[in-house]
Amino acid sequence: MARFILLLLLCIFLARIFWRSVDAFIEGATGRPRARGAPQRGVSMVRDPVCGTFVLPERAVTLVNGRSRVFFCSEACRDKYRARTA
Ligand SMILES: [Zn+2]
Repeated sequence: MARFILLLLLCIFLARIFWRSVDAFIEGATGRPRARGAPQRGVSMVRDPVCGTFVLPERAVTLVNGRSRVFFCSEACRDKYRARTA
């Protein structure tokens, strides 16, 4: 009887591993992260007007130009833009 219970537990354990890998596979196939706190995909990128590089707004170097904010990949680009618009 004890052996049967052990076997049952082993089956449950293996089934769990199996479903976890299936989940991981589905996640990989659909490209949809199921885990919370994972980095968001499809975040809107902004274009650096100087060199044309797309940058993430939260990581970009910014310059407030009148009412709008302009995003740059680096301080060098921001300085170029500032020199151009000044
Ligand atoms: Zn740039």
